[in-house]
Amino acid sequence: MSAATGILNGYDAIRDDQEALYRDLHAHPELSHEESRTAAEVARRLEGWGFDVRSGIGGSGVVGILRAGDGPTVLMRADMDALPITEATGADYGSTADAVMHACGHDVHVACLLGAARLLSSHQDQWSGTVVALFQPAEETGDGARGMLDDGFADLLPKPDVALAQHVLPGPAGTVLTRPGPVLSSADSVRITVYGRGGHGSTPQKTVDPVVLAALIVVRMQTVVAREIAPTDTAVLTVGSIRAGSKSNIIPDEAVLELNLRTYTEATRTHMLEAIERIARGESMASGSPKEPQIEVYDSFPLTENDETVTTRVADAFAEHFGERALEMDLQTASEDFSDVPRALGVPYTYWSIGGTDPDAWAEAERKGTIFSDIPANHSPAFLPVIQPTLETGTAALVVAAGAWLGLGSENG
Ligand code: ZN
Ligand code: ZN
Repeated sequence: MSAATGILNGYDAIRDDQEALYRDLHAHPELSHEESRTAAEVARRLEGWGFDVRSGIGGSGVVGILRAGDGPTVLMRADMDALPITEATGADYGSTADAVMHACGHDVHVACLLGAARLLSSHQDQWSGTVVALFQPAEETGDGARGMLDDGFADLLPKPDVALAQHVLPGPAGTVLTRPGPVLSSADSVRITVYGRGGHGSTPQKTVDPVVLAALIVVRMQTVVAREIAPTDTAVLTVGSIRAGSKSNIIPDEAVLELNLRTYTEATRTHMLEAIERIARGESMASGSPKEPQIEVYDSFPLTENDETVTTRVADAFAEHFGERALEMDLQTASEDFSDVPRALGVPYTYWSIGGTDPDAWAEAERKGTIFSDIPANHSPAFLPVIQPTLETGTAALVVAAGAWLGLGSENG
């Protein structure tokens, strides 16, 4: 029993509709920046439940605001986009789109936030404050949240007191997992173009060879984490792509390297970006390159660092409501752009995860030690959360967490 038990008794009345909506969303996935069908469905439903709705924010972003008397403002966010993957789950509600799939579970997030919005709307006598339900486009490309902010999102709502978001991950369905402090890494991709002076492969003395230059950069990059990052800190730097030349006896004019880095503090991120630039420029100079290298940072995701106070409050509410199904979340090397919104608004936030794997399948894989091989993870063409208890848990998690600010249940004791 918890303060939210009363309102969550209403879940049975919305269960069928929510499951049908989820199947429909799963069957109709939309790529980043193209979430128009999903957004229209979200807006239509929120309006029907009395939310003040604004659509088309930063593309297909939707925000619904529901005021129920004085009290804190709680922002809850779900992302809406799918991935360019051909579904291989075999589900009868599988994707009907060509090579597009909800392989990251954002359809679960949308269904759960709509479920929470509906329950909060139909039980307004049980809480007091303002609910902001944010449906964000383009999480997978890392620019959906910023796009909404650039489009004036902050002016559309009262300043929230707290921001909340969740993600479905591999793990027993029915569990909710929290973690204070850094929880998801920041990620950046960097494209480096270095320049040489092309010529015949038989006369290297007349050229500046960008292939050798690029190779030296790759080797030197390996020293950044090993020699410049403290052993107690952690970071990843991978050169995932290197391209140059077309034929064995031609020295090309340029080479292009693509790097990906993951870090858990802003200071480490800044240091690594500076080191990458320093090495690219330094090696170019050492090679006698005729032109400064071009360095472009793209696909950047911010660090997700949960506020300690907010996370403790949510974790306590989860422990009270979910009991032993409330667990601690591991540090993830994945990345998210959710925190761009609370950071821009100056609002503390927490981001938690819910399990989406059939609990029996999970227990069996755990027993055999085959979790990584047997349990499909996010971005796999076989990723398919079990519908229940995933939807009920994700809906309850939002209501319980928001309820910790909205005085949920206090009206009726
Ligand atoms: Zn994803
Ligand atoms: Zn995702």
